[in-house]
Amino acid sequence: MATVRFENVVKRYPNGFEAVTDLDLDVDDGELLVVVGPSGCGKSTTLRMLAGLEDISEGKIWIGDRCVNGVEARKRNIAMVFQSYALYPHLTVAGNLAYPLKVAGMDKTEREQRVRDVAATLRLTELLDRKPRMLSGGQRQRVAMGRAMVRQPEVFLMDEPLSNLDAKLRVQMRAEVSELQRKLKATMFYVTHDQVEAMTMGDRVAVMNLGVLQQVASPTELYNKPANVFVAGFIGSPPMNRIDATIRRSDDQVLAASGTADITALSPDLASIADLAGHGQFVLGVRPEHVTLTSSGEGLPARVRLVEHLGSEQILHVEVDDMQLFQPEGNEDVDDDGSTHRLIINVRDDTVVVNTGDTLHL
Ligand code: ATP
Repeated sequence: MATVRFENVVKRYPNGFEAVTDLDLDVDDGELLVVVGPSGCGKSTTLRMLAGLEDISEGKIWIGDRCVNGVEARKRNIAMVFQSYALYPHLTVAGNLAYPLKVAGMDKTEREQRVRDVAATLRLTELLDRKPRMLSGGQRQRVAMGRAMVRQPEVFLMDEPLSNLDAKLRVQMRAEVSELQRKLKATMFYVTHDQVEAMTMGDRVAVMNLGVLQQVASPTELYNKPANVFVAGFIGSPPMNRIDATIRRSDDQVLAASGTADITALSPDLASIADLAGHGQFVLGVRPEHVTLTSSGEGLPARVRLVEHLGSEQILHVEVDDMQLFQPEGNEDVDDDGSTHRLIINVRDDTVVVNTGDTLHL
């Protein structure tokens, strides 16, 4: 297997549009790195540059100790799995798995051995004689993975490989791909727009927006220490509550307010935020699980607009003053009948505070 390195990589399309800006990114040997971001953020372009399917406008890409700028796709020793896994319908599973080896000119005995090994790893042995139309979506996806694996590439590139599967199967395949990656100790570069997929699968996750890499970190670090407002809002479901607030000091008291709602009353330790955020406008990023709805007298008056029942938890959409907040687990059954509750915003050590474009972590 191999490392991957992007060094100051820029992609400008012929129409002048810059899809990727000054990208520096490393993937370790044997690491599953997930690149995530909204539609159009440049993640597929990044993957395609690594695959050799797209030219690089500036910078260098390395696979292992080889700079692959200008190296043809088929000579990069990578394998790709796409969302449309495009198996050959007229070939059996065995035929599909053997195809890349046949093209590479491998002799029949060695080819058959490789196919048997890969089929065993992917639990496809019983299915080797079937045609793709006789397989389920998940089985087809495993064949597509197998076709990438037989060539024993240095790096696996995956572009939204699970997005054609239904929700339940996607969850199952997510786990299978992670498990397989660990078993093979494979270097994987995995692109998705689904932040849950990114967080559950990645050793590290690279978040992109508008062609710019925002942060690369472990899932836990991304969640607890987002580098900026974009990452804070993109990672986490339901999303982080964003409270635009004003902070001022008066008679040695720190006051913070959003609209007419006085947050000071809700937070035990706003002084430390004020020290970091200074005066004026700031953004308080509060995770839904740090918002508590109570029936006691404390907190701000809050109206529950909507309750989403998800089985193990419920997501409450709450209105406080002019703020719309999320709170994931109702402590007790709550109705969205417009009745008034009290809401407490728990400002904690990992509450994200953003002021004038900088992010500060308490
Ligand atoms: P998605 O999740 O929708 O696939 P993405 O993050 O993979 O999005 P890219 O396909 O990398 O995004 O595209 C990044 C940006 O580059 C987009 O704004 C897209 O419109 C633009 N783009 C892509 N291909 C070209 C092209 N050939 N010429 C000009 N602009 C392009």
